[in-house]
Amino acid sequence: MPTVYLETYGCQMNVADSEMVLGLLGKAGYARTLDPALADVILINTCAVRERAVERVRGRASSLARYKANGRHVLLGITGCMAEHLRHEVRQQAPYVDLVVGPDGYRRLPGHIERARLGEPVEDIALDAHETYAGLDALPTLGSGVIGHVAVQRGCDRFCSFCVVPFTRGRERATAPAEVVRQVAALAASGAREVQLLGQTVNSYRFRESGHEVGFADLLRQVAAVDGIERIRFVSPYPLDFTGEVIAAMVELPKVCRHVHLPLQSASDAVLQRMQRGYSFGEYRALVARLRAAMPEIAITTDLLVGFCGESDADFAETLAALGELRFDNAFMFAYSQRRGTPAARHLPDDVPAEAKQQRLAHVIEAQRRITADLYRAQVGRRERVLCESPSHRSAAELLGRTDAFRPVIVAQGAGVAVGRMVDVVIERSGPGTLHARATARELAP
Ligand code: SF4
Repeated sequence: MPTVYLETYGCQMNVADSEMVLGLLGKAGYARTLDPALADVILINTCAVRERAVERVRGRASSLARYKANGRHVLLGITGCMAEHLRHEVRQQAPYVDLVVGPDGYRRLPGHIERARLGEPVEDIALDAHETYAGLDALPTLGSGVIGHVAVQRGCDRFCSFCVVPFTRGRERATAPAEVVRQVAALAASGAREVQLLGQTVNSYRFRESGHEVGFADLLRQVAAVDGIERIRFVSPYPLDFTGEVIAAMVELPKVCRHVHLPLQSASDAVLQRMQRGYSFGEYRALVARLRAAMPEIAITTDLLVGFCGESDADFAETLAALGELRFDNAFMFAYSQRRGTPAARHLPDDVPAEAKQQRLAHVIEAQRRITADLYRAQVGRRERVLCESPSHRSAAELLGRTDAFRPVIVAQGAGVAVGRMVDVVIERSGPGTLHARATARELAP
């Protein structure tokens, strides 16, 4: 049986794409190996959102290419956003790459591998306005199987000026609700207890069928009706599409977790405007207030991008002040790096010096670290339900789980405390980004 080794870079969508690729290749007769030295096919599923991610993949591809030189016929493939972004340049820069396949070419991957095996260099980088995730199930193979991913949408229509995604993943296309439900039910049957619905702007989901439109709130209701799935998360919603209907569905459906990852990017209206985000900080703040009023226990996390074109010290100070005001549970924070082909690269000078970008990044990271530590400290003594996801990195005697609000919790293994179990705990202490808990009640073994 031929073997495939796959490495994944980037966001949750890429994790889901990798799981989908492993499922497709599994059906085509490939076995997964975790050792590239044993692989017949080596795939790197890539990200193009930041230059640093691209550099990492370049280095890794050149290092993995050594397995082609040991006398075996090994194929090396670059898939995903970097393949789409760099297109023909991938093979110009790295002629040892056999396959270059963009996000819309995955369905054809088994055939591409067969062609490459016959010595034909393969490039499949065309975006396909009709491709969706229908029939492309992401089997929960990369983790412990407790969390399943279902991509409900491809592409993005927003065109934020800094972002390469609309160019690498194309325009928005939704998977039919019945197909989403089928994939969720298949995950439940395979043992997943939580499903994460994925899309670049997941809450802008819209699918027209039989003369009416199914929106994201309806989709949440349909997914919540699937037996066996106990938690539903969705990543990442776009602030402008967070309608009252979606908030009402969250309130109505106890399976939908009390956590929202809501990208802010900047709190300066001038910067938001140059980013073409479409909202002001005041509108974002009002949305946070609406979410917290509807679900007082909700945890909100965010994305921040510092050092964007024209960001002044005063603009940055507004972002820093917003952190103090909104007190996010946590944040992904990055310094801007220009991406070729984006509106910002074409029209806005990348004029914040690299040193200032790094200083601002260090500043927000430190501010957020203190806020997260404070919020986590306030959790001590609380009772929570934790879904145990995997062994902890620190000790085989401990498991890592998450609360409904997505806070990571370490809990000691024991009778009934095992991967895949939902456990009642008391939070006993907090670390800077982790909670430590004692189990108080466990599920009975099935
Ligand atoms: S919403 Fe903006 S940042 Fe997010 S994927 Fe679309 S263009 Fe990129």
